[in-house]
Order: sequence, then structure tokens, then C-alpha cells
Amino acid sequence: MPGAELPHVVSYEDALRDGVPPGTVAVIGGGGIGVDTAAFLVESPDEAVRAAEFAARWDVTVADDLVGDVPQRLPAVGRTLRTGADVTVLRRSGKFGQGIGITSRWVAVGRLRDAGVRMIGGVQEYLRIEPGTLWIRDEDGRETAVPADHVVVCAGQERSPAVEGVTEGVVAEGVAGAGLAPGLAAAGVPYAVVGGARDARSVDAVRATSEAIDAVRTLAP
Ligand SMILES: Cc1cc2nc3c(=O)[nH]c(=O)nc-3n(C[C@H](O)[C@H](O)[C@H](O)COP(=O)(O)OP(=O)(O)OC[C@H]3O[C@@H](n4cnc5c(N)ncnc54)[C@H](O)[C@@H]3O)c2cc1C
Repeated sequence: MPGAELPHVVSYEDALRDGVPPGTVAVIGGGGIGVDTAAFLVESPDEAVRAAEFAARWDVTVADDLVGDVPQRLPAVGRTLRTGADVTVLRRSGKFGQGIGITSRWVAVGRLRDAGVRMIGGVQEYLRIEPGTLWIRDEDGRETAVPADHVVVCAGQERSPAVEGVTEGVVAEGVAGAGLAPGLAAAGVPYAVVGGARDARSVDAVRATSEAIDAVRTLAP
């Protein structure tokens, strides 16, 4: 997309690690990662504050000992508190938060609604990014401007290129950007490519963990 290389366009990984400076944010991709990233943009960096807000919202008690010493889930450094109105999450098709567990998706999406985050579904096309604006073709085919001092991309994850040329423990020569696999292969260390590196299409830590356990069983001498 034109403008994708501009400095105010970052990946979700960068956004979650470094925070996003003040201003409006367009989040491209409204799956599980997009919904979590949007929440990150509008929630307090303080674990205790988030717990108190959660308790008040759902009218439940959160025991102090579950909160007080909990390490900060994410670094507070670089986090900017902004109102939901400053954040727009965009998605081409499907439900917002699709892929999050059936018992928690409505909570995750609900917290965005409560915060007033704009959610635009049915995006036909992402047209271009300009300083301050993301241009899209909306579900009615209209060219529409979305306020975006910053753009966070939560889409287009790809599995490791290693997988293209790999069967367990063997990596084809010349696989570019293959991460650890070539080094392990060269050193004669048994390995398996699992989890997100093997298949990045869905957010599924259960599958990643299960594949890792299977790999350990298979590879252990
Ligand atoms: C915002 C967000 C929300 C998510 N929510 C959910 C959810 O609610 N439910 C769910 O099931 N899944 C969720 N996921 C997906 C889940 O996190 C992944 O499916 C899972 O973490 C994949 O596990 P993995 O071990 O393959 O990769 P990772 O968890 O990414 O682990 C890979 C590890 O390898 C390390 N590493 C990478 N390269 C090297 C190297 N060269 N040398 C040494 N170490 C290296 C990395 O630092 C990292 O620690 C979410 C993901 C994101 C980003």
C-alpha cells in the first residue's frame, strides 16, 4: 500500500513494545491481535488500575493479592493514554476479535466499545497512507479518510520462510531469513519448527504449545 513505508506506520510488535506517541491511531486488522492492540492503546499501563476498572465494569471483586504485586504486564514506558475516540480499528471481513476464544471475545470487544473505540468493518480496500490520514474504500465503495497520526498494522503475519524449505530437522539451502533453523541444522542439532513460525494464520497459543510439546517428545533422545 502506498505510504506503508512512512515512519508513522508501525507493526503491532513495535507498538506493544515501544508504545505509540500521542495522537489518533488507525489499527489495520481487527482480529484478536488488533483488538488487543487497540485495548493496549486506550487502557491504563497500571495493572492495578486496569484490575479496578475491570472489577467495576463487570461488578465483580478482584482480590488485592491478585493485583498488588503483579508485575506490569507490559512496559509503561512509552505508553500514552488516549481516549477511545482517537482509535479506529479496521477490518475487511469477519467479526471483530475473530479467533479470540468464544468465552472471551465479547469481553475483549466490549472493552473497546466501552472506551468508544471506532470499529469499521467491511473495508473493501486500504488505499493509501498519508501523514495524518489512512484512506480506505469503505463497505459502500466510498473513499473515506480515517484519522491516523499513527498506523499500527495488525495484519499480514507470515510464517517463517524456513518452513517453505524445511522438514523436521532438515533445511533446504538458500532459505532466506529462516531464523534459527539453518544454524541448528548446520550444527547438527535436532529441531522442529512449531507454533507461529510454522503457521501464523491464527492466534493460537494452545496449538503452539501443543506442537512444542510434541516436538520435545519427538526430538528428545
Ligand atoms: C497481541 C496478541 C494477542 C494474542 N492473544 C492470544 C490469545 O488470546 N489466545 C491465544 O491462544 N493466542 C494469542 N496470541 C497468539 C499467541 O501469542 C501465539 O500463537 C503464540 O505466542 C505462538 O507461540 P510461539 O512459541 O510460536 O511464538 P512466540 O510466543 O512468539 O515465541 C517465540 C520466542 O522465540 C524468541 N526468538 C525469536 N527469534 C529468536 C532467535 N533468533 N533467537 C532466540 N530466540 C528467538 C522470541 O523472542 C520469543 O520469545 C496473541 C498474540 C498477540 C501478538
